[in-house]
Order: sequence, then C-alpha cells, then structure tokens
Amino acid sequence: MAKVLTVGEILVEIVATTKGDGFREAQPLIGPFPSGAPAIFIDQVGKLGKPCAILGRVGDDDFGQLNLDRLRRDGVDVSGVEVAPGESTGSAFVRYREDGSRVFVFNIANAACGTLPATPHGRAVMDGCTHMHVMGTALSAPGLAARAMEAVEVVKQNGGTLSFDPNLRPEILNTPGLREALDRVLAQTDLFMPSGDEIFLFTEAQTEAEAVAELLERGVRDIVIKRGADGASHFDAGGRTDVAAIAVEELDPTGAGDCFGGAFVSFWLDGADPATALTHANAAGARAVTRLGPMEGTSTRAELAALLATTETG
Ligand code: ATP
Ligand code: MG
Repeated sequence: MAKVLTVGEILVEIVATTKGDGFREAQPLIGPFPSGAPAIFIDQVGKLGKPCAILGRVGDDDFGQLNLDRLRRDGVDVSGVEVAPGESTGSAFVRYREDGSRVFVFNIANAACGTLPATPHGRAVMDGCTHMHVMGTALSAPGLAARAMEAVEVVKQNGGTLSFDPNLRPEILNTPGLREALDRVLAQTDLFMPSGDEIFLFTEAQTEAEAVAELLERGVRDIVIKRGADGASHFDAGGRTDVAAIAVEELDPTGAGDCFGGAFVSFWLDGADPATALTHANAAGARAVTRLGPMEGTSTRAELAALLATTETG
C-alpha cells in the first residue's frame, strides 16, 4: 500500500482573537494550535486513513508535544520527528486585519524546525515511503531544503511518485538557491498543485491555459489549481475538470490549501478519477475554513461524505 511522506516545518500557531494591526499592544490570544503547512497536509492524509509520515524537528517543550500528540492521534508516523533538547518549537503568531489580510510574527528559521540533519533513521523512513509531497516552504529554509531534496531523490529512485505545492509568497523567491531547488523538484513532479498565479512560476506563458499546456508537455501528469472561494480545477491529458467552492462561512482560511492538498493526494493515490478526487479535496478545503486554527479543520472520510451529502441535496 502507498505510504505518503512529507518533510518540513512543524509549528504552533497562536491567534489574536480581535482584528487589528499586529502585536504592538497587549491583547487576547487563543492557542497554541498545531500548525506548519507540511504538518497540516500530512495530518489530513492520516485522517483519511492512508499510511503516512513526516520528517521534521520540534523542541523539547509542550509546543512540540502538542504537535506530536495530534499527529500520532490522527495516524501519522512521527518516528522521524526529532525532538531537539534545549531548543524551542517553531511558532507563528497571527492577527487578522479588518480587510482580511494577516500580520505574522514568526519564530521559524531559528527554531528547532529550521534545520533537519541527515540521520540513518530519517533515511530509513524515506525508504519506507512510496509518495513524497513537497511544500515549497520547506525549500526556502536552507537547513531543511537538503533533507526535502534527499527525500525527493530517494522516493523517486525507489519508483515512487511526487506531488508539489509551491506554497510560496513572492518575497521568498529571492532566497539563494531556492529557484534551482524549485526547478529540480518540478522536473520530477507527477502532480503539481499551485494556488492561483503560482501556475506561472515555471513558465513564460501569458495565459493559464498556455501555462497548463506547457507544464503537461514538460511531463507533469496532473495539475490542480486552487482558487480559494472560487473552487479548484484539475487538468491532465484527458482534459479539464472544474469544481465550484462549497458555500460555507469562512472563519479562518489558514490551512485550507494544505487540507485540500492532503485530501487530493490521498484520493489520487487510490486511483480515484479526477472529479472524485477534486470534489473530496474541495470539501476538505471548505471544512478547513470553517474552523479556527489551521489543523483543526482536517477531515475524516465520514466528515467529507457528510458535507458532500448536504451539498448534493441542496
Ligand atoms: P493556504 O496556503 O492559505 O492554506 P491556498 O492558497 O493554498 O491556501 P486556497 O485556494 O485558499 O489554497 O484553498 C484551497 C481550497 O480550499 C480551494 O481550492 C477551495 O476548494 C477550498 N476553499 C478555500 N477557501 C474557501 C471558502 N471560503 N469557501 C469554500 N471553500 C474554500
Ligand atoms: Mg497554500
């Protein structure tokens, strides 16, 4: 049976309960919530009952333990997560502004999650997996990128498949070496999952259709474009499938793309047809935005089915 691997940052997120401009005054907060894009992704895969693992690093503290407990509970193999003595687990403080934009205070690059040394044990976990999911964020941290690239090479050389969510803010693209790493990942990607304009990251094409055609031509087998409240689209040699977003009340959009990705990859690996995979991923993204906290909205198969049943009957 397929086993899904991801590599990258494991964090806690702490959320301001009032809207406003950042953290320059004392204010009410809620958290810690388990977080980190790769961690949210793999938690969603685990909740769908697929064998899966994450390689990463947490501190020897409650924030790390909170994440390990949650991931383990949801079925994720965390035997490759290193607990770093004397270091702190990464964190992100987030406050929404009235206009929906977000202000962050990050402790990531210099926290336990900012590095991931090679170990024989980590290599053994890689060898036990048949699918690797790359989050672009893991490639933007120099101490993590080498491990993510190692996992890509190991899983592909073992005959496995690769999915890739660039998940990059344009500002990070100037990170030294990042562009080359992204190109190397794309060249080996089977399933590419950009959000909106990220479809143009690897092409000079002027329209979405041209960009999609070029990437399929270059050997990517499946492309899924995430469009937030406008739903999502899938493209392959057989054509195009669109799905509208499910109407829900958006409480906290953070993590929607990661839940969507975890669900799509799980159904895709099971051989589901594009419409089935897209519909379930769309439901996972919709459920994610209705919960406060980035990993609180990951879904079981029963929860996805229940939401889809209500939308089908109108
Ligand atoms: P992030 O990186 O912030 O987690 P993303 O940009 O990768 O997000 P989005 O496109 O925002 O991903 O969301 C992923 C999917 O989740 C969408 O394609 C859609 O299916 C679903 N989704 C997102 N926002 C909403 C919403 N407001 N209502 C319903 N579904 C949504
Ligand atoms: Mg994203």
